[in-house]
Amino acid sequence: MAQEVYFLPWKRKDELYSFLKAAKIFKHVKERTFLAIKIHFGEESNKGYIKPECVAPVVKIIMEKAAYPFLTDASTIYIGKRSDAYHHLLIANKHGFTIDSCGCPIIIADGLRGNVEQKIKVNLKHFKTVTIAQEIYSADSFIFMNHFKGHEITGFGGALKNIGMGCGSKVGKYAMHNSSKPTINNEHCIGCGNCVRHCYQKALSLVYKKVVMDKEKCAGCGQCIVNCAFKVFGLKWNKDSSVVQEKIVEYVAGVLKNKSGTYISFLNHISKYCDCFSLQKNGPLMDDVGIVAGVDPVALDQASYDLVNKAFGKNFFKEIYPEIDPTIQLKYAEELGLGTRNYKLISY
Ligand code: SF4
Ligand code: SF4
Repeated sequence: MAQEVYFLPWKRKDELYSFLKAAKIFKHVKERTFLAIKIHFGEESNKGYIKPECVAPVVKIIMEKAAYPFLTDASTIYIGKRSDAYHHLLIANKHGFTIDSCGCPIIIADGLRGNVEQKIKVNLKHFKTVTIAQEIYSADSFIFMNHFKGHEITGFGGALKNIGMGCGSKVGKYAMHNSSKPTINNEHCIGCGNCVRHCYQKALSLVYKKVVMDKEKCAGCGQCIVNCAFKVFGLKWNKDSSVVQEKIVEYVAGVLKNKSGTYISFLNHISKYCDCFSLQKNGPLMDDVGIVAGVDPVALDQASYDLVNKAFGKNFFKEIYPEIDPTIQLKYAEELGLGTRNYKLISY
């Protein structure tokens, strides 16, 4: 059966509150329960993250249902402004996410150092258990607010990526990423050391002004790929991307086990890279499309993928990452029973 996905064009984004109310997608929200709103607060200098003014209407709806919403995210494995709770809260505040602007507090889900976590049994192909952030596990239900854009490893990042990778603790993120270790062709390396500074695993060093990697230490986070302007790093895209996509989906299965949620994706500032990168150049590559919402993360990602490609006039993701098939995550999620790719788009 087709799942309903609701669509609000970007030019009418100010109608977000009435759009979400009309969609009637918050049936899972119960009085006096803790509801985690999982979001990405954006890295330093990143411009693509969902803005606080889009969060406030969502919080308002939850408050009207007398539940207890809180904004949340988990720490990153790369070194940045979100790699521990202290700095994560500072960057969230700097980007305008405050109780005054959003209407609810922020609780970083995996503790001060990103190691407060919970193991969940899934018994799947890549993982028997997944390790997710404690407060994601503790929440009674969810709203996932996802920024839909390109992604350097998975082709696109949307709801599934925000749930699976986003809710993993550091141990979990490491487990998902570590099959995608970059390749090196250091012929063009100028020895600037930029990648070395961004490698939190200390897997990179310079020998005679050329980069070398200790593969044992590499966690596959992808920071070096994006921080080298000389295309020294690459990935074995097909194999590595498909494994990471499937691993992310297995984490989705763990996060959503016995829980329900609502999913809201923002199809704007559609960039090549994800919001973890503090790249001034990570700007939008096409016009903003709109906002989609629903109760099925697979249907939502499929609809987002189709809407972006339709607005672009051809397959946007094939254009930016010809080597990656980003639909692997959708196929595997459907296979695991996490939702359906069959959707009915209802425009507001
Ligand atoms: S960032 Fe690129 S050019 Fe600079 S040291 Fe690293 S690999 Fe070499
Ligand atoms: S070598 Fe690159 S991919 Fe590996 S941990 Fe360091 S920055 Fe991340």
